[in-house]
Amino acid sequence: MARIFINYRRQDSEGYAGRLYDHLLRHFEAEQVFMDVDSIPPGVDFVTFLDEAVAQCDVLLAVIGSTWTEASDSDGERRLMLEDDFVRIEIESAIRQGKLIVPVLVGGAKMPRSADLPIGLQPITRRNAVELKHAQFAKDIDRLAEGIRRLTAVKAPATATVRAEKEAALKAIRSDLIAATDSPLYPLRQENRFFPVLGDGDVDATLLFISEAPGINEAKEGRPFFGQSGAVLNEMLATIGLTREQVFVTNFILDYLGEKREPKPAELAYYAPFVERIFEVIRPAVIVAMGGTAMRALLKRFDQPEAGDKISTIHGKLLPVTASWGPIHIVPTYHPASVLYSASWKAWLREDFQKLKLFV
Ligand code: URA
Repeated sequence: MARIFINYRRQDSEGYAGRLYDHLLRHFEAEQVFMDVDSIPPGVDFVTFLDEAVAQCDVLLAVIGSTWTEASDSDGERRLMLEDDFVRIEIESAIRQGKLIVPVLVGGAKMPRSADLPIGLQPITRRNAVELKHAQFAKDIDRLAEGIRRLTAVKAPATATVRAEKEAALKAIRSDLIAATDSPLYPLRQENRFFPVLGDGDVDATLLFISEAPGINEAKEGRPFFGQSGAVLNEMLATIGLTREQVFVTNFILDYLGEKREPKPAELAYYAPFVERIFEVIRPAVIVAMGGTAMRALLKRFDQPEAGDKISTIHGKLLPVTASWGPIHIVPTYHPASVLYSASWKAWLREDFQKLKLFV
């Protein structure tokens, strides 16, 4: 059950926030929507108090009116620049806690420019905004509510029978992969006595992680993400309270490529039916593409217009798509190995993983 926190500035958008609240109650129970934090008890640290209030929620709606960026206090100081501004504290807290944040533009407001915001607030400018227009307020909120619902939908766990069927189906794919002697990478596998790498983890996982191709360590073991990048993946999963056994991990290429190179289109095409069968068995709520090759392959697979985008611009976005088993999300992120070279990539990877918390 999604809990929604409405963040707004009285001076800027009180009327809109109230209208938003009323309309959201057509879609959600009253106890799911929070608008005003109850008064802060005397002596309590208000940052901690607001942090805890934000922690109770899954989604923060940041209502942005036409004076949101400029609104100032009686001394003429811009409120957003003040350390004790509640609007700022709540949004920064939601960013830190990896909450889903939706900027909600009202009264003709535009998304603020990153340069006009304090550093801690700047990530909000990368969040997809929705606009509520006066003439179609109810319709815009229907769309927003549908988006929230899809984003926070939790996958129902499989029954024991379905789980057994999934395990059998995965075993059949593994056998077919072992027997895939017509693969362009089979001679290399055979020559070096490598194993194909189907993937591993929970057959009923909510989150499926997919990358490019197994490395040599993985081909020797027959398991994905076994080496150094596996350690990074495990570390990232731990930041959202998950272990490898609770997710499913695979690649678009299911044999070792032999050298550090991009997979060829014919190689991707060869393994695509295997990958498709894996998706169909696991039926995840979220597919996370790790690295540029996996991102491009996954976006293409789901006909996403962002397919040409760079990973630096779309990493961490939750893209709603329709799979044969229902609506799911795809999330591009960096390859775990990339963080071995750059500390900022590690921070972004960690931030992207925080978004996945919504589904676990
Ligand atoms: N890198 C990948 O892309 N896949 C693996 O399985 C391991 C490392």
